[in-house]
Amino acid sequence: MPNLEYTEELKQKYANLTRTVNEEFINIHPIQRGGILTPEAYRALIAYADGYSLCDNCLKGRIDKIENPPVIDFLKDMASYLQIENVMPTAAARRAKQIAMKVISERYPKRRVVIVDSLAHYTTYLAVETNNLQVKEVPNSGYSEYKLEKENFEATINQVQNDEAELPLLVVLTHVDYKYGNFNDPSPIGEICEKYNIPFLLNAAYSGGIFPIDCEKGKVDFIACSGHKSMASSGPIGLLGFKDKYYNDVMVHSKIQGNLTNRTFSNKICTFMGCPPVYGAPLITLMASFPTVVKRTQKKYVKEESKKANYVIEKIQTIKNLKVLGKLPKIHPLTNVETKCFEEVSKSHPRRGFFLRDEFKERGILGMLPGISKEIKFNTFGLSWDQVKHFTNSFLEIAEKYNLL
Ligand SMILES: *Cc1c(COP(=O)(O)O)cnc(C)c1O
Repeated sequence: MPNLEYTEELKQKYANLTRTVNEEFINIHPIQRGGILTPEAYRALIAYADGYSLCDNCLKGRIDKIENPPVIDFLKDMASYLQIENVMPTAAARRAKQIAMKVISERYPKRRVVIVDSLAHYTTYLAVETNNLQVKEVPNSGYSEYKLEKENFEATINQVQNDEAELPLLVVLTHVDYKYGNFNDPSPIGEICEKYNIPFLLNAAYSGGIFPIDCEKGKVDFIACSGHKSMASSGPIGLLGFKDKYYNDVMVHSKIQGNLTNRTFSNKICTFMGCPPVYGAPLITLMASFPTVVKRTQKKYVKEESKKANYVIEKIQTIKNLKVLGKLPKIHPLTNVETKCFEEVSKSHPRRGFFLRDEFKERGILGMLPGISKEIKFNTFGLSWDQVKHFTNSFLEIAEKYNLL
């Protein structure tokens, strides 16, 4: 095979990478609502789009210490917002979890089991796996609420202690799960972790930036957030928040020395390969959106967002053979609906499972999983009330068209 060469064809292939989903459609894709940029972030994105653009005024060789633009202030403000002592940028929430697990598994090398709730995201499992640890799941209540009970966390901790003769390494709670959008209060789990002296990691990928979070109150030792999921940022960016107790475990300075050059890099942090990999666009958009994120997580706005999801739910529950899964009323607007009604239609529809997405698309709504009609996930976060109502009416219209009302 010859090396790839520059050609007109190559140029054309990548010439038109435009995207107008959010201009042309109401986008209800669950993972996309919270990551839509603010106008401030769009402006900052243009200014800081170039590769290492954040590093113009780097005086200390560390991205977390840059004063202009105010990265150092931002990390302090974010820490104060999350009520945790330290915050460092990471590549994503998944990376934050992976780092948290790595540093505590080095602190407690005999403890190998990570307790996770049974609605945990795949990235939680992969964080466990890539650290060569073992996973132990806390059961949920199953169909149709999929609730987590604190008693089951305690029982699972006791089981691990009995089986391993060691404490579990860590307990991970998914603050809002990706499947049913259930909101789980960290405080009761944090209290149990404190009682047993087990570090507690809150996975706030779907919640940090949508809800106010108080790590102090929740007795959270580590928190993982996702800028591109829930904080109106370009990706990839996440945050790792951690208590002072773990400061030296996380902020490990480089000690290596070149054998010929004698060079050292003692200001660089090994855990983050020197600097977290967010040298321009991702971090600047997170910073630019931060004031809006602080504002939108005030009580009155949060309540309004829950109202939108509950409005849709109330109206669509008139459809036959449809069931909203997860805990109700909704707190987080990510909603999972079991739609046996639409599945039935798909069996005889020429477009099969794709018909539902087609029907919504015709009505200007995008973000349904293609080919699946037995289950719908949607997220109304940040939609205007007009859009919420149009989405609801479209839902009902489609049901009516197929005689499901
Ligand atoms: C989306 C999601 C993640 C992944 O977030 P990244 O920042 O992309 O790593 C992790 N956990 C949960 C619960 C999620 O919903």
